[in-house]
Amino acid sequence: MSEQKQPDMIIIGAGPAGLSAAQYAARAGLSAHVFEEMAPGGQTLIVDELENYPGYDDPVSGYDLAVKFANQAEKFGAVIHYAAIDSVEHREDGMFEVKTPDGEFIVPVVIVATGAKRRELGVPGEKEYQGKGVSYCATCDGPFFKEKKILVVGGGDSACGESLFLSKITSHVVVVHRKERFRAQRGIVGLMEHDEHIERRMLHTVNRIEGDTKRVTSVNFHDIAQNRDYSEAFDAVFIFVGALPRTQLVPFAETDESGYIKTDGRMRTSVPGLYAVGDVRDTPFRQVVTAASDGAIAAHDAAEYIDELHGRTYV
Ligand code: NAP
Repeated sequence: MSEQKQPDMIIIGAGPAGLSAAQYAARAGLSAHVFEEMAPGGQTLIVDELENYPGYDDPVSGYDLAVKFANQAEKFGAVIHYAAIDSVEHREDGMFEVKTPDGEFIVPVVIVATGAKRRELGVPGEKEYQGKGVSYCATCDGPFFKEKKILVVGGGDSACGESLFLSKITSHVVVVHRKERFRAQRGIVGLMEHDEHIERRMLHTVNRIEGDTKRVTSVNFHDIAQNRDYSEAFDAVFIFVGALPRTQLVPFAETDESGYIKTDGRMRTSVPGLYAVGDVRDTPFRQVVTAASDGAIAAHDAAEYIDELHGRTYV
């Protein structure tokens, strides 16, 4: 790619954070290229119904919202590439060299919006029965288990929220959590408590997932309070035990003890010109609305950063 055609920024990831950054940057007259290896939407895609995104008084599906985010960013001139970035190098002159299947880019700003991937539980049988009853996405796989007995593992917003979705598919949902209390938002826990299709079992861990080689048939638990192990029949196991930030492309960015990229209030990282937004950064609250907000803040600051590089200042 020739020097004249270089964009102002590369945004890695087309979830709500990346697409919001693209929209704000493009609307501010910057040329923003977004790279996404899958479909736009990120984690939002696996949310069946979002009822807390401002402006939507009727719940909106994660997919529908993601499409709107992408269309809006493109409408303002952002370019979305559906390709995985090969590498990002921070050069001595402060620029970033970004290698992609669509060419090599030299840019002053990179916005990392790579999100986080689902964490595995790490018990025997989990890998063996993935796609045969073990799942990490209720919206994708829940409908295969109509009126079957489903186990949900975890105690955060994902486990509790997705158990509510699964309870519409079957009247036999059991949620197990290793602590005495769920860490999910109170509103979600309240809905679970009033859902007669959901049984909550606290102080329980999963020892192993069992099956007949073709599909999951049962799960072996440890009941912490009673200090005993037991097996119980289940048709499916949905695992929501947190996420791991995707930071592999920018190992030079400083992270916290959990691996999330450290940022300041303007989404700036430890590296000038490198921003991190959404689930990949060290934020206390991971929502679509906070991801979108991160993107807007990063794009705004990046515009000032680029102006400063060009010797221009706002009046
Ligand atoms: P999370 O908040 O990190 O919760 C993970 C849950 O899994 C915790 O309850 C944790 O237990 C449990 N856990 C972790 N490792 C485990 C293991 N080895 N065995 C058993 N249990 C284990 O993850 P999340 O629920 O996926 O949410 C991720 C982020 O997205 C959060 O910031 C959340 O607020 C956000 N989110 C928001 C919404 C929404 O607002 N609608 C929906 C989904 C996600 P402990 O409690 O004991 O640590």
